[in-house]
Amino acid sequence: MCGIVGYIGEQQAYPILIKGLHRLEYRGYDSAGVSMIGSNGNLTVYKAKGKVNALEAICADKDVSGTIGIAHTRWATHGEPNEVNAHPHYSQSKNLALVHNGIIENYKTLRAEMENNNYTFCSDTDTEVLVQLVEYMQELHHCDLFTAVQNALKHVVGAYAIAILDRSNPDQLICARKGSPLIIGVGKDSNGRAEFYLGSDATPIIEYTDQVIYLKDEEVASMDRSGRLNITNLANVAQTPQMQTLEMNLEALEKGGYPHFMLKEIWEQPQALRTSIRGRLQVQDRDVLLSGIIDNRDKFVNARRIIICACGTSWHAALIGKYFIEEACHIPVEVEYASEFRYRNPVIYPDDVVIAVSQSGETADTLAAIQLAKQHGAFLYGVCNVIGSSIARATDSGTYIHVGPEIGVASTKAFTGQVVTLMLLGLAIAKEKKTLADDMFHMLVNELCLIPEKMQWTLENNKDIDSFAQMFTYCRNFIYLGRGYNYPVALEGALKLKEISYIHAEGYPAAEMKHGPIALVDEEMPVVVIAPKRGMYEKVVSNIQEIKSRKGKIISVVTEGDKVVRGMSDYSFVIPDTRDCFVPMLAVIPLQLLSYYVAVAKGRNVDQPRNLAKSVTVE
Ligand code: GLU
Repeated sequence: MCGIVGYIGEQQAYPILIKGLHRLEYRGYDSAGVSMIGSNGNLTVYKAKGKVNALEAICADKDVSGTIGIAHTRWATHGEPNEVNAHPHYSQSKNLALVHNGIIENYKTLRAEMENNNYTFCSDTDTEVLVQLVEYMQELHHCDLFTAVQNALKHVVGAYAIAILDRSNPDQLICARKGSPLIIGVGKDSNGRAEFYLGSDATPIIEYTDQVIYLKDEEVASMDRSGRLNITNLANVAQTPQMQTLEMNLEALEKGGYPHFMLKEIWEQPQALRTSIRGRLQVQDRDVLLSGIIDNRDKFVNARRIIICACGTSWHAALIGKYFIEEACHIPVEVEYASEFRYRNPVIYPDDVVIAVSQSGETADTLAAIQLAKQHGAFLYGVCNVIGSSIARATDSGTYIHVGPEIGVASTKAFTGQVVTLMLLGLAIAKEKKTLADDMFHMLVNELCLIPEKMQWTLENNKDIDSFAQMFTYCRNFIYLGRGYNYPVALEGALKLKEISYIHAEGYPAAEMKHGPIALVDEEMPVVVIAPKRGMYEKVVSNIQEIKSRKGKIISVVTEGDKVVRGMSDYSFVIPDTRDCFVPMLAVIPLQLLSYYVAVAKGRNVDQPRNLAKSVTVE
């Protein structure tokens, strides 16, 4: 969480930093701040509570000149979201300014030690201790900033990505990371002079250069105006930077005429899924080619068990993946909340395959879960969206979902991208293990190829959700029900509504209703039922009957042509027919649209819902 931007070169830093903050705002928006060293040698810090716009308003009449600077958009972990706690933080002498993403776990101890050394603190953050500690190290060892940063970080327990400015050296920008992401962009300005960019992800950088270096854990980097880049570890051993070329276009980062990123990303799903399956699903040969499975065939064929670790929406996608892999490959699959798994001494065997599912590839709990699995010798596989992300690099192999940048905080296209990728994974393993009859395998491949088209149909045929959603703005609760493959869809539908409209919603397996939750149903309770004309259709019809008898309002997701459930419902969303296992990728679309339009009607900030941030890089 939180976004860091930095720049050193010959251009004015402020416009680059502000634009970068806007691009990173999805990562946190409790407060924003910026720091520059001006040509007069002043180290300025400007901060504002709230969004980047508020920061811009504050800076409007300030001197923001300078060709070196750092900036931050915060998702508070320690200390309330106010101006004082906003980053950048000054050191005691105000000679240093620092921004930080992560959590310093031993900050209380460090702070107490610093206070004993007559350092005073202004904020409640864990971050302020870092900048004070660096200054303390400078004074203690009479060393330069780079060495002071290395020394300070040796005392730190926790996760950090930091960038730091020193008033006395306006020609040098220093950064470091452990556990939180940081990328260095290496560019040249229009006059061919060297410049460096910093970003928590590539989005603030891509406009200027596609040449990047992903900083590794416990690396410290200094970038200077002459174009010199020096990277060492904390023990001052030089590290060789690996330059990579970004594959991302700027257009994908813009709203493209949609009012919100979320709506754009919902509508992008057919195309995103086409990209996801391209080259992997061979329509003509009716085959699946997934290099991650081909290259590691024995690991999957001989797997005792697959454990999928994930959080939030990715956990729901993982549950769908479990149902499919168990059905298609006959391998037991467990789905774990990464945050629970990592702290409960789970039994992990060396012949287990552990799959980490994370859109950003930076989810701190998921990263820690696979590190634990690695200690037990399991084979690690990543399913991520962001290329080169920490999880992608920490796993033995993996498959990118390739849905393009997802900016809306509530995940949509990454969910369907994760589901389709887990389906591909299941099919590829089933092929190697020969657990599916040829006819069935070919039929599933054919049907999966049709899903993007059917998603498009679903979007085109549910346009009136907009006006329908208005009726639900005053509801305080919702229930979502589904069975089999659609139970995780019910969970995901409920989560989407909670996330962006702040209406309480619960997802349940439909048959569980009568074991308790049905007590909640009355004439004021909307119940969303996913009831495609496949699988346990008749049983779901009975579940609907039970709710109707208690006067609940039924909103159903039905297969095109269905009359029975439609007739029983107060309102229905229609999806095309498909195999049971593929229904989630269609059924989730009306639920995404429903939550989107309810939230818009309630005047919520759909792309940046309160208290949430996109890339959960803190545990
Ligand atoms: N722990 C720091 C704070 O609360 C940084 C949080 C972040 O990553 O945004 O200020």
